[in-house]
Amino acid sequence: MLTWSDILKFARNGNPTPPKRVEKTEGEWKQLLPSDVFQITRLKGTERAFTGEYCEAHEPGKYACRCCGSLLFDSTLKFESGTGWPSFTQPITENAIAYHQDTSYGMVRVEVLCNVCDGHLGHVFPDGPKPGGLRYCINSASIKLVSP
Ligand code: FE
Repeated sequence: MLTWSDILKFARNGNPTPPKRVEKTEGEWKQLLPSDVFQITRLKGTERAFTGEYCEAHEPGKYACRCCGSLLFDSTLKFESGTGWPSFTQPITENAIAYHQDTSYGMVRVEVLCNVCDGHLGHVFPDGPKPGGLRYCINSASIKLVSP
């Protein structure tokens, strides 16, 4: 189980090796993705709270990257954070997610990205439920629920 100190180590010292890589230009992604998905995943946008399709989803399944299809999260690790964004306590595997320090908007946060295609997913915070204490705050537009 990942803890906040693991996350900080990844953000500072380098991320776990991804299972594979998918690399495309911004122009290629723009052609492939719906505009709202492109805006959030490739330009690091944020959907408005309580507007995303998975904000209050309870269906069982796995969540894949909307850009490259890599598995990122499992519905069994989803929890009600009350924030208006789908929230998870852990990634589906330790190397599914990459972590970058994000100092935009005058805050120091840890951005989470798909480790395979670098798609922006959201941020991770150290105020999640026990025992791991992590809260992955994810844009619905960055993920897609696929069958269990
Ligand atoms: Fe991806």
